[in-house]
Amino acid sequence: MTLLCLPDLKYKENNIMYNFEKKFNGTVKFTYPDWKMKALAFSYDDANIADRRLVEIFNRYGMKGTFHIPSAWLKTKPENRITEAEINTLYNGHEVSGHGANHLNMAQLAKDKIAQEVAEDCREWQRILGHKLTGYSYPYGAYSNEVIEVLKANNLIYSRTVEHAEDFYLPEDFMKWHPHAHHRDNIAELGIKFLDFKAEKLSVLLIWGHSYEIPRENHWELIEDFCAQMANKEDIFYAAMGDIARYVNSISKITTADNGKTLINNSDETVYYLLDGQKCVIEPAG
Ligand SMILES: [Zn+2]
Repeated sequence: MTLLCLPDLKYKENNIMYNFEKKFNGTVKFTYPDWKMKALAFSYDDANIADRRLVEIFNRYGMKGTFHIPSAWLKTKPENRITEAEINTLYNGHEVSGHGANHLNMAQLAKDKIAQEVAEDCREWQRILGHKLTGYSYPYGAYSNEVIEVLKANNLIYSRTVEHAEDFYLPEDFMKWHPHAHHRDNIAELGIKFLDFKAEKLSVLLIWGHSYEIPRENHWELIEDFCAQMANKEDIFYAAMGDIARYVNSISKITTADNGKTLINNSDETVYYLLDGQKCVIEPAG
């Protein structure tokens, strides 16, 4: 991928937030927490032991990672793998996400096998983490409508592909969340473009990869330089993918009353917005 693939960053009419904000006649603009418009997220698959160094770098620069791990691999393919015993300490402050219990190509499986693969992964992660998974990434990037149906039936609200996002706005469909770049794809330049980007609506930059590729391709410095370049920016929400997908889900639960004069937050988290440019929050109604 080259950066030339990113077209002029116009706000597309099929963007998820566009349709939603139309309800409020353009006066309400939803933001991330602390009225930020831009989020930075990282998505790493397969839980190689190189995750240890990657997490250490993320922690040092205040970055939040999402780590997609096939739960059965902790037992069946333990070589160079993060162990079950260290999952909750290593990834503390980050997100553990699903990746198919056995990392099968789910687009090639019968629906009952897909259901088995996802249910086993969700069950195992609930046992290990003590809470439910929020999302997924597709092993081999392979998905189908059937796979998506099964993920949704398991209450998973996002899943990452290996395709390329065309702009910095939120994905049209969180079940087909395309990253912007693999970390080897000139992320320094992409990072500058994102820092310079004047976001009109909720935006995200999503970088993906496998941590084992980093030592193999001698890229530790590249990762560290990128984190240093992107760190400590007041207008960036450093978030796991699950934080972003869940927050947007909360926004989508907001309804209006009094002919649109009152907003009601039917989610369980505080939602931030701008009303004619003024900073506002709306607390959960329940
Ligand atoms: Zn994988």
